Amino acid sequence: MPSYVILEKCDGCKALDKTACQYICPNDLMVLNKDTMKAYNREPELCWECYNCVKICPVDAIEVRGYADFVPMGATVSPMRGSDSIMWTVKFRNGNLKRFKFPIRTTEEGTAVPDGGYDEGEGDLNSPYLFTEPQSVEADFFKLNK
Ligand code: SF4
Ligand code: SF4
Repeated sequence: MPSYVILEKCDGCKALDKTACQYICPNDLMVLNKDTMKAYNREPELCWECYNCVKICPVDAIEVRGYADFVPMGATVSPMRGSDSIMWTVKFRNGNLKRFKFPIRTTEEGTAVPDGGYDEGEGDLNSPYLFTEPQSVEADFFKLNK
């Protein structure tokens, strides 16, 4: 679901040198039209759909094009990021609204547990098992392989 700019809302980041959406896009897709001072996604087909631009826009001027299997024709979808979840709002063409809230973190914002709480063990690169296996998949590979 590539992003697009709602021109009526975009204020060009109040004419700052580099707009927030330009700064954050990892694929360098957002462009500011200096004549209109409105930003746009110059190549939606190359959009990674990471939604960094959606999250950073200070005036909520960026939305995403919903795929038809998720959002019917004529509807809009807007993600709103919170500290522990994203709320997706779908507005149908008849005016109905539906909201879906999905958790995006397993730890508090600003924190991470890189090893997931699993013992790193000896970190044997020659082992056929992935890190945390067999504990994380709750299977005893050693028994299964016998
Ligand atoms: S971040 Fe938002 S307000 Fe700023 S230029 Fe991009 S779309 Fe416009
Ligand atoms: S969704 Fe990501 S890749 Fe697409 S325009 Fe926004 S920041 Fe760039």
